[in-house]
Amino acid sequence: MKVVKFGGSSLATGSQLKKVLSIVESDSTRKIIVVSAPGKRFAGDIKVTDLLIECARKALNGEDVTESVSSVIERYESIALELQLSFEIIEEIRSHLLNLLNAEKRSSNHFVDAIKASGEDNHAKLVANYFQKRGLNAKYINPKDAGLFVTNETGHAQVLPESYEHLYSLREQSGVLVFPGFFGYTKEGVIATFSRSGSDITGSILANGVRADLYENFTDVDAVYSVNPNIVENPNEISELTYREMRELSYAGFSVFHDEALIPAFRAGIPVNVKNTNNPSAPGTRIVSRRVQNNGPVVGIASDKGFCSIYVSKYLMNREIGFGRKLLTILEQFEISYEHIPSGIDEITIILRQDQLHSETEEDILERIKSELNADEVKMEHNISLIMIVGEGMKQNVGITARAAKALANAGVNIEMINQGSSEVSLMFGVKEANEKKAVKAIYEEFFAPVLV
Ligand code: ASP
Repeated sequence: MKVVKFGGSSLATGSQLKKVLSIVESDSTRKIIVVSAPGKRFAGDIKVTDLLIECARKALNGEDVTESVSSVIERYESIALELQLSFEIIEEIRSHLLNLLNAEKRSSNHFVDAIKASGEDNHAKLVANYFQKRGLNAKYINPKDAGLFVTNETGHAQVLPESYEHLYSLREQSGVLVFPGFFGYTKEGVIATFSRSGSDITGSILANGVRADLYENFTDVDAVYSVNPNIVENPNEISELTYREMRELSYAGFSVFHDEALIPAFRAGIPVNVKNTNNPSAPGTRIVSRRVQNNGPVVGIASDKGFCSIYVSKYLMNREIGFGRKLLTILEQFEISYEHIPSGIDEITIILRQDQLHSETEEDILERIKSELNADEVKMEHNISLIMIVGEGMKQNVGITARAAKALANAGVNIEMINQGSSEVSLMFGVKEANEKKAVKAIYEEFFAPVLV
């Protein structure tokens, strides 16, 4: 049995839905279909989820939502028209959205989440309706009825472990099950969404819950590429990746697959296959526990901007028991999470996502570190990009860091910091944001470009 997830661009128009139907029909083991809300139809288009967020914002501010509601409904309407679906389904979607907008707004976060989730919920109903009309034994499944329970963390909910047991019984249901991605229900019966692009997470949870043989994730590219195609033209396609490699790559900017989505599939040992709705016969990229090391030490290079670092130095820091704990406790008290901690004998650098801070918190944090830890120097640097070089094969190869560092030196890029864990699955370089593209290109050329002799 397969769990199959289709992303927003695969479900943005009627003609895309026709491709989805033929993919589902072509393989009777494609049993559970997870859907996103309609995504972008062309560059510059707006995703339904973004239209809904705007609609929720207006409703909370007491502004007129008529136009916003129309722009959402029009998206479903044009799909229904193209597929010649009855207008009852559109009326059902409209009244569902209007009911949600009229609901009480005491908790604005829950209100926004319910409106956001309606994007996938309504699309799952429409997709099920279309499948039925085309003669498929298909039905819409509501996440509450299926027992997909999540924490009460709106906008970044986490699955509750008991959900897996509940979801197992979906195996007994007949026909194709169309399941909305992106959200679950709290134990109090209220909707909470995963983080953005979270339908990938739903697919993975379901794959684990029903013990699927494969989790297929359909998107709009033939494969996961070894580097961002917006930085390097025609990059290598990756045929196979391990979970750890994919996690590292998607963490640092590979948006093909949500970085939180791997864990449920990984725990149950279910392989993931990233495929293209527009070219379903292409083999895509398989994500597995173990792979044959046949494509060199480095499998991919990812990069992401928007990081900052807190540098702390203190003479004899290495002898001071509890220094690291005290430092991290200060961050914890500001509810700030960190990404990496490269360190030396008398210094430590903490790398954070910059969007967690604003200028006042920044000053307060630096002040507290300086006074409470008696540090010699505390400073903050902004606008750092992290470049991640990823590959399980790096462990068996000597000289990867040297080659990467030399490539950066030749390109005139200064390395602000380096970090590598003992698993050696990834190697991180911190560079100034302005140098990010240059750095990625130089490293890609070093490891992937054919050597001309
Ligand atoms: N529609 C949601 C988003 O745009 C979730 C998803 O597509 O996976 O973030």
